[in-house]
Amino acid sequence: MALDYYEDDDDKKDSAKGARKDFDCPECNANNPLEEALADGQELLCNYCGCEFSVKAQDNGRFKFKEI
Ligand SMILES: [Zn+2]
Repeated sequence: MALDYYEDDDDKKDSAKGARKDFDCPECNANNPLEEALADGQELLCNYCGCEFSVKAQDNGRFKFKEI
């Protein structure tokens, strides 16, 4: 029996382990892929609505986005 099964991190939102390489725009909710993993102080640009955000890492491993 051949089952093609892939664990796709994209489906696990806000995973504390492993670096996320995408973010959900707080403005328009669009999922934007990233070339680099999310990091504290990073600046993001939503490809859909054009809003810019700065990334703030939290103690629980999640990230907050603040509109610039
Ligand atoms: Zn957006």
